[in-house]
Amino acid sequence: MITDPKYIFVTGGVSSSLGKGIIAASLAKLLQAQGYRTTIQKLDPYINIDPGTLNPYEHGECYVTDDGAETDLDLGHYERFLNVATSQANNVTTGRIYQSVINKERRGEYLGKTVQVIPHITNEIKERIQILGNSGEYDIVITEIGGTVGDIESLPYIEAVRQLEWDLGEHNAIVIHLTLVPFLAAAGELKTKPTQHSVKTLMESGVQADILVCRTEHELSESIKTKLARFCNVKKEAVIQSIDASTIYDVPNLMLEEGLDKAVLQKLNLKSETPNLTQWNAFLDRYKNPKGEITIGLIGKYVELQDSYKSILESFIHAGAENEVLVNVEPIHSEYITSQNVSAKLGHLDGVLVAPGFGERGIEGKIEAVRFVREQNVPFLGICLGMQMAVIEFARNVLNLKDANSLEMDEETPHPVINLMESQKDVVNKGGTMRLGTWDCKLTDHSLIQRIYATNQIKERHRHRFEYNNDYKEQFETAGLKASGFNPETNLVEIIEIPENDWFVGVQFHPEYKSTVASPHPLFVDFVKAALKSKSKK
Ligand code: GLN
Repeated sequence: MITDPKYIFVTGGVSSSLGKGIIAASLAKLLQAQGYRTTIQKLDPYINIDPGTLNPYEHGECYVTDDGAETDLDLGHYERFLNVATSQANNVTTGRIYQSVINKERRGEYLGKTVQVIPHITNEIKERIQILGNSGEYDIVITEIGGTVGDIESLPYIEAVRQLEWDLGEHNAIVIHLTLVPFLAAAGELKTKPTQHSVKTLMESGVQADILVCRTEHELSESIKTKLARFCNVKKEAVIQSIDASTIYDVPNLMLEEGLDKAVLQKLNLKSETPNLTQWNAFLDRYKNPKGEITIGLIGKYVELQDSYKSILESFIHAGAENEVLVNVEPIHSEYITSQNVSAKLGHLDGVLVAPGFGERGIEGKIEAVRFVREQNVPFLGICLGMQMAVIEFARNVLNLKDANSLEMDEETPHPVINLMESQKDVVNKGGTMRLGTWDCKLTDHSLIQRIYATNQIKERHRHRFEYNNDYKEQFETAGLKASGFNPETNLVEIIEIPENDWFVGVQFHPEYKSTVASPHPLFVDFVKAALKSKSKK
């Protein structure tokens, strides 16, 4: 254990989407596996207060933490790799920084000073970076700076990094710079110039990269590494190749082979040991050597962009490995499902997941999909909006409540089986006002869900405004759609199931946010098991 926390800054150059989040998470894994209490934080240079109001097409999935923060999807990777919960402190945006500074200004906290980017914004950034370190819970804090070095919006962050390195002193803070080494096919050569320029841009802000992580499609030869080291002013051992991997879960081992953890620990004056990756590698082994295969349909409206359902896709990887089976996830666009084509589109699937979402687009297709799987007894998992669709489908087609709907889609519906929570009725602002974060849920005795979780009370994360309408509960129960999980304080229904079917579960919360490599989520594990069983009966 070390007394003062050490800081690692991960910056990126040349291009966005080089995989800073995965590199940060992999490094954290290697440090954690040597006994260092490590956490990761992401600083995003956009002006939204949080990504909660962003369309998934813009930025991928919005990840929700226990404390109800709506955050960048990289936090999902941090949790999946480390199996340690994150919180609001792990994700800060420029919008939040400015909001906080402006609020302080209005309260008169700056005592009449002119409020400026330097020092007020940079001080606020420095404070946010040190919140996690000062908690005493961590030995090492990795801070990933979103965006690309050289962008106007990144400047205050890079200046804050420069100052912090100076404040904290040598061996207490280092900078990793992630860059791209492109391969020019026509010349048959890897090019180092973009990296040299990116390091130079960083230096113009007074920050020297300590370690280079070079994203590349081809192996970096020794001579390329030497060239990069010489012209970027880093040690040769500090030039780390990050070659494209077939799965993100290989990256910790690849970084170990390259000695990223060693280079980092040496720079921080900390001792390095061989990380204990036994459990991690056992997972990889199961994941890469499946004994069978199933296909699950993922019905949603943002299916064109893989990142929109990131946590769901990763949860299937964890659950597949646990069951030693390869889970093929087939994305199916809900907008194009109709009663005529539903059987052709879903007939071959071993299980169907109807995804979370917002707004009217594509919901009739989701309802059609639920009808098909309910009638055909295909294993079904509905998450949040997916659960609400299952309730609406049952109301319309079993209870015969024509035009039953959610108030979100139809304010005039005669049967609002999904309605707006009382506490939501006067809410005007969209950002940060949903039912968010962890809530308790009590499970009903002898239900399928109680068997799956093997406990009576659970805690899961929420992100929604609408709810199951208890006025219809008796009708639903009598006809066979059972409520099997409740919020103990409000009595809100959180889980529904159809005991007559083999495996039909809808949950108002998001189990996908809590699945990790070390702890695959029981709901996904059992869903995959059910799909396997269903396949074997075909
Ligand atoms: N749109 C629905 C609601 O607000 C469901 C949200 C979700 O799927 N996360 O209640």
